Amino acid sequence: MPVWTPGSYLVREFSKSVERFEATASGKQLPVIKTNKNNWSISKGKAEKIIVTYWVYAYEFSVRTSFVDAEQALINPSSICMMAQGMENVAGTIGINLPGNYTKISTALPKNTEGYFVFQHYDELADSPLQLGNHEEWDFEVRGVPHKVAMVGINNADKTRFLKDLKTVCETMTDIVGVHPCKKYLFIVQNVEAGGGGLEHLNSTVVVMNRLNWKDEGKYKSFLGLCAHEYFHLWNVKRIRPIELGPFNYHAENYTEQLWVAEGITSYYDELAMLRAGFVKPMQFIATLEGYINDLENRPGSKIQTLSQSSHDAWIKEYRPNENSKNTSISYYAKGLVVAALLDAKISAATNGKKNLDDLMKMLWTRYYIDKKRGFTSTEFEAAATEVAGTELKPFFDKHVRSLDIPDYQNILGDAGLTINVKTEKRQSSGMTTASENGKTIVKYVESGMPAWISGVNVNDELIAINGFRVNNDADDLLKKLSYPALSKLMVCRGGILKELNFTYAPAGRFSLSLGFEKEKITPSLEKWLGKIN
Ligand SMILES: [Zn+2]
Repeated sequence: MPVWTPGSYLVREFSKSVERFEATASGKQLPVIKTNKNNWSISKGKAEKIIVTYWVYAYEFSVRTSFVDAEQALINPSSICMMAQGMENVAGTIGINLPGNYTKISTALPKNTEGYFVFQHYDELADSPLQLGNHEEWDFEVRGVPHKVAMVGINNADKTRFLKDLKTVCETMTDIVGVHPCKKYLFIVQNVEAGGGGLEHLNSTVVVMNRLNWKDEGKYKSFLGLCAHEYFHLWNVKRIRPIELGPFNYHAENYTEQLWVAEGITSYYDELAMLRAGFVKPMQFIATLEGYINDLENRPGSKIQTLSQSSHDAWIKEYRPNENSKNTSISYYAKGLVVAALLDAKISAATNGKKNLDDLMKMLWTRYYIDKKRGFTSTEFEAAATEVAGTELKPFFDKHVRSLDIPDYQNILGDAGLTINVKTEKRQSSGMTTASENGKTIVKYVESGMPAWISGVNVNDELIAINGFRVNNDADDLLKKLSYPALSKLMVCRGGILKELNFTYAPAGRFSLSLGFEKEKITPSLEKWLGKIN
């Protein structure tokens, strides 16, 4: 039984949900030994055909797990289907007995004439979720490839508008590499009370939307962005991929320093797609990029963890965040997006507007997916980028991927034709985040280097009063009303014991970068990067 599901870099121990396991040959029980947490060994003797039967509890709703109830079943085979060791490359079929009230099965797997779903190898099975239930199925086409939406759960979607917009999104993403890799494609859209996220697969995706958010313009557009993201993974990661991400080892962590390529570049393209598809204006896209840059540079973890380290340690950091994560780590999604934007701008400027990141994706597609039929090492990725840009990019990757240095925003974005203004703003903040719990003000996060950190405030402290004034989940507001005293007495309760802390306050600095462009000075590189601007 796999311990993880590709695309979601965390050991989830799916074997924890296996309840019973038995093997028989000609109706007789065979001896079974469980050899470790997720492996069963069967003594088959001389038997040529054996039948293995096992039960799996499936009641964890997420895009990476399996969930079954009276209404529907979302099956992620990596969390349900065991593999026979040594037979991972053998083709097989799945038969499904639907409960009486279920009427439909949606999956990207093809069906044979006997009504069984067919897979060529375990990887294909693991990468093909199945949606069972009474959902609606909507059809559309992208560049001649049939697409289906399995619309699960009650929702307030406008079907006509969604299918039109989704088609535009899919066409925009297809045009990046220019070749569609699928015979057919399936979006499984899970409409839920609250939640979000998605997971990419070989010929399908599962995406989650709040069932009543479809009429909210902002939330609708961010859902289209999520669809764009998962859809672009069809190319980037499912086919154009870091060498470590396939064939997968389903029994342990699969380490790579290139998750930023898989997720950062994809996140960048999901934002860029909104611009290319006409859902946002150039200035909105530039403001989004500005937001990502400012968030990154003001996150303490950006001085501690590099992009390659963040990729490598996804298994224990990104997927296992705690109250200190922002202080010591970055997200390879967010910094990866920023570095992808810088790379796109760099290529565009270096070629004077003749090439951009699309050309790198095309080169990786042809060279590694089509010709070599394998993934690439980071050296190969960087060499391909150098070739497209026509200038040595190793120093770019050394600085932005493997060092803690602040990216070269001014030069790179300036050369590509943007105007940049960087300054340090005064920031009045205690540096702690609190929440109100049963009327108590509880500290949830303490930012390293900030006044609360320096004064010894801990996560889980209950804040009671500042200089005798009661705190009601409003410590920063109270400090402001008290005119930010340089030294105050902070009453906290820690582990049931009252404590008075000397709270030392001083304003901090905040990195602030703003971007724009001059309408009279649109360069060919800027248009190659961001498309027609005027
Ligand atoms: Zn992704």
